Amino acid sequence: MLNQKIIDGLKTPCYVIDESALIRNLEILHGVEQRTGARILLAQKAFSCWQLYPLISRYLSGTACSGLYEARLGSEEMGRENHVFSAAYRENEIDEIISYCGHIIFNSFTQLRRYRERVLSAGKNIGLRINPECSTQEGHEIYDPCYPGSRLGITRKHFREDDLYGVSGLHFHTLCEQDSDALETTLNAVEERFGDILSLEQIKWINLGGGHHITREGYDIPRLERCIARLRERYGLEVWLEPGEAAALNAGYLVTEVLDIVHNDMPIAILDTSAACHMPDVLEMPYRPPLFGSGTPGEKKYTFRLGSQTCLSGDAVGEYSFDSPLEAGSRLVFGDMAIYSMVKNNTFNGMPLPDIVLLRTDGGTEILRRFGYDDFKYRL
Ligand SMILES: *Cc1c(COP(=O)(O)O)cnc(C)c1O
Repeated sequence: MLNQKIIDGLKTPCYVIDESALIRNLEILHGVEQRTGARILLAQKAFSCWQLYPLISRYLSGTACSGLYEARLGSEEMGRENHVFSAAYRENEIDEIISYCGHIIFNSFTQLRRYRERVLSAGKNIGLRINPECSTQEGHEIYDPCYPGSRLGITRKHFREDDLYGVSGLHFHTLCEQDSDALETTLNAVEERFGDILSLEQIKWINLGGGHHITREGYDIPRLERCIARLRERYGLEVWLEPGEAAALNAGYLVTEVLDIVHNDMPIAILDTSAACHMPDVLEMPYRPPLFGSGTPGEKKYTFRLGSQTCLSGDAVGEYSFDSPLEAGSRLVFGDMAIYSMVKNNTFNGMPLPDIVLLRTDGGTEILRRFGYDDFKYRL
């Protein structure tokens, strides 16, 4: 865990990856693999810190990718099982993608027909992403691939059981930060709509996607394991999962410094970080990130709104309360900042990118990456 001495020694803003916390998550995921025989992949979309792939590969079976660059990164830096799904593949990228990945998952029968022979002649596996049309999350359309009109996954109505030559597996991804009851509900829908396909001799594997919050306190792991066992026993399938969040949940921090306090209806701390640039999900999801040592507004004696340096008026993290007033130079530590942060950040407003620091299990820190002016300039 971060202590004050480490926090004071960092150059802010910076992301800190907590190696011990990461290992705790990986041990939980590895336990699921060992007890069930399922294979778990890191969805790189959530966390692509390849410097940690050698560690991660000791616990997980490989990587899941969304396209060429992630496919290449997974292949180069993890070098184990590599599954790719993209809503559509480009003609000029598919051969390189096939060279990096063992499993290529298509989102339509037109894409399947277009690239099928190339995948098969490379000796790789073909999967189809299905849409079980079973929404288990409410009010979150941006994260729900089953919302009406979704482009992700083939619905049963458009599924062509007469055109499955070369297809050896199915894939679905419908969850987001959910427990295994939602998986169970989804599996019921998958069996109801696609059970006949799962029963086909040629279908050997199923990939249950991500969104399984397996490493969260209170997640029902035995139920997940029953779901996996059901697929293995009923259909003889090899089962894959590709969680992103769960791999690095609560395994990172964003350390920031207060630059100034301004006043409007309440005191507002201006931070050297930005929600829009360094934690975009805070505005996109939206959500209020955990902040160590703070309370909800009014819970502790001093309530502050936390805002950023940028000129975007809505670039605020939220309202938090503290035991003592913030002042210029105060340091704050946001929690759960390993996932969907470094992979999504940007230099809007000319904001510098935070350093990426590793807090090792031995308590030492190591700068994995430091960014500068060139990283801003040469994106353009
Ligand atoms: C986003 C995504 C994942 C990972 O989801 P998490 O919510 O981070 O676990 C896995 N597979 C696919 C296809 C995805 O789109």
